[in-house]
Amino acid sequence: MPALRKKASAKESTKEVDRLLSAVGLKHGTRKTRTPKARAAQQSAEKAAAKSKSAAKPRLTAAATVLRAPLFEQASEVVRHGFSLRPGGKTSVYGKPSLNLGFTPSDSKTNVASNRKVFLGLVAGKRSGGKSPELLCLQQIHSDLIHIFKKKPKAGKPLSGDGFITNVPGVMLAIQTADCIPVLLADPKRKVVAAFHAGWRGTVKRIVEKGVGRMCLEFGCDPADILAAIGPGIHACCYAVGDEVINEFGSQFTYSKELFTEVHDLDPIKEKYPLLFLTARAPGHSNLGPQTHLDLVEANRRQLLDAGIPAENIWASELCTSCHTDLLFSHRAEQGFTGRMMSAIGIVTSRR
Ligand SMILES: [Zn+2]
Repeated sequence: MPALRKKASAKESTKEVDRLLSAVGLKHGTRKTRTPKARAAQQSAEKAAAKSKSAAKPRLTAAATVLRAPLFEQASEVVRHGFSLRPGGKTSVYGKPSLNLGFTPSDSKTNVASNRKVFLGLVAGKRSGGKSPELLCLQQIHSDLIHIFKKKPKAGKPLSGDGFITNVPGVMLAIQTADCIPVLLADPKRKVVAAFHAGWRGTVKRIVEKGVGRMCLEFGCDPADILAAIGPGIHACCYAVGDEVINEFGSQFTYSKELFTEVHDLDPIKEKYPLLFLTARAPGHSNLGPQTHLDLVEANRRQLLDAGIPAENIWASELCTSCHTDLLFSHRAEQGFTGRMMSAIGIVTSRR
């Protein structure tokens, strides 16, 4: 059963990636599943295109775009949201021009400010005469600290925490990630939105489950009305974890076993000559034997369900950051030298 689910989701993921790549003017390089016939057809199409004049000028930069949860379409009159993607933007330190939205040490403040403006425009949408909303960020600390804004917060240093909830129009709650899981919530009935940063530490502290509880407590939301979107993050395919993580989850969740899978190294040479590779690694960091991988997306989906949100109200992106560094930033896949994506949500200002 889990194997079947994996297969289906891999297919979905491929479709999602193809759609996104074509939206930003890119395309996948080699794909094993491509048939020789399809490859030949593409090659002849490429040859034909190379002859035409338009192909003489290759597109150097991709336009920035955002990913949206289709589920939120029904709330588009009330709520604006978007998950940023990597291509486009002013940043060049991380390879091709990218939309880095975090003030990382290697990027300039000017670039990030410009990228944020582009992102905000994409998320908020163009509105004639309307003021563009204000982007609100947090000093993220891998906690379960959640802030409630019932009025517009004063400008200044960002508050420390990993979640915020508001019913104030004209602000965009933004979470920054590069592997951790961003979770956006909206109650279109009560006009309340929330954003959470769920890495393994936040997840084990149940930040998302607590967040839904706070929405109900502070704003009278009914979980049955809440829509949830789990954005791109590192998936179980790439997220090998150590004993500390396994033990923490084991102590917190009765279902923790369902969140972990054992992944065996499929390299036949390593399997046959394990001693050759043993010495190449620091003690305790051996890659030999099965590794344990954590499914953070499933962990957060469980919390949303446990908080009372119906399964059909939950959407999760099939994109793994570590598998798709062409489209997304991945802290782990890029050994820490990478940019930050943003996941933002806000209430639409009512027209007067
Ligand atoms: Zn992956």
